[in-house]
Amino acid sequence: MAISFELLHVDKHTGARRGRLHTPHGVIETPIFMPVGTQGSVKAIAPDDLRTLGAQIILGNTYHLMLRPGEKLVGKLGGLHRFIAWERPMLTDSGGFQVYSLAQARKITEEGVAFQSHLDGSRHMLSPERSIEIQQTLGADVIMAFDECPPSGSERSYLEDSLARTTRWLGRCVKAWRPDGPSALFGIVQGGTHEDLRRRHAEEICAHELPGFALGGYAVGETPEAMYASVAFSAPLLPVNKPRYLMGVGTPIDLATCVGAGVDMFDCVLPTRTARHGLLFTSEGRVQIKNAKYVEDTGPLDPKCSCYTCRTFTRAYLRHLFVAQELVAMRLNTLHNLHYFLNLMAEARAAIERDAYADFLKEVQAVTARTPSSRSS
Ligand SMILES: [Zn+2]
Repeated sequence: MAISFELLHVDKHTGARRGRLHTPHGVIETPIFMPVGTQGSVKAIAPDDLRTLGAQIILGNTYHLMLRPGEKLVGKLGGLHRFIAWERPMLTDSGGFQVYSLAQARKITEEGVAFQSHLDGSRHMLSPERSIEIQQTLGADVIMAFDECPPSGSERSYLEDSLARTTRWLGRCVKAWRPDGPSALFGIVQGGTHEDLRRRHAEEICAHELPGFALGGYAVGETPEAMYASVAFSAPLLPVNKPRYLMGVGTPIDLATCVGAGVDMFDCVLPTRTARHGLLFTSEGRVQIKNAKYVEDTGPLDPKCSCYTCRTFTRAYLRHLFVAQELVAMRLNTLHNLHYFLNLMAEARAAIERDAYADFLKEVQAVTARTPSSRSS
């Protein structure tokens, strides 16, 4: 197997886990947040910024990369790591989620999903075999099974058919995967917020001896409370000795809560996307940097933050850059938000080691309570 997971410690009072994931491109200390590099780039920043931030692993999106520049070109040029000049670990998704959310004229059959590119209308097919082939060509350290992400609020009967198909598709993914290659395959458990469906699907998916497992189908429109309750139920259904990845989640309080449920890995576009819209996460709550109250504010964005943006610039200047639409505003805001998310996970790891995770979670809840919740993704 290309990767191995060490479970170092479980917090005495919660389900929070401190672990270490060994991959061909380095070691990942968990729990971890993974910045999203959709098209082979974390928007607005470069790999040297990511290294300075201490990012341990980033994501690439199969859907985007297969359409542009195409996985064959990336493979010919030495694989995704070399192509984007990122020598640390990487994970690619299966392409499924974007096919369901972005592509046009989508048709799901037992074979796979036929769709038209959102870029030029060209016709494509993603199947379990094709998704695994693309991901192995890209060469990420962790690759994801091709599944269906049923829309939120799906009828139970639709959900049951979809889960059964995802289980059959996993069997095909496993056959297409080269376990002795550099890419480790993770299976994905779906089931919405239905406990019986999550349990049954976890049994089916975890019947395969895979290097890791993920929970999919969360943060798709259910309330945070419903997601927290369901993740608390579902995470312990996954094998104890394998990494557990909660896909597409979430806000700082989402991360902190779900770490407490025993999740090890997270990804979300939230910190990078909101940064480009001037919404910044701080130890004092959320800041909309364009607000007029920052016009003459000479304080740092976040007095408790040690990132380049907070060490160097005033709120007044960051507001000016954003309002004037200066390109560097995107970079400085992104640096700060990613630092906030990565630091949150570093603090979570330290709290787990001290068996003080419950207190840490309360602190994150207190920061969240200081600003009105406006979940956006
Ligand atoms: Zn900062």
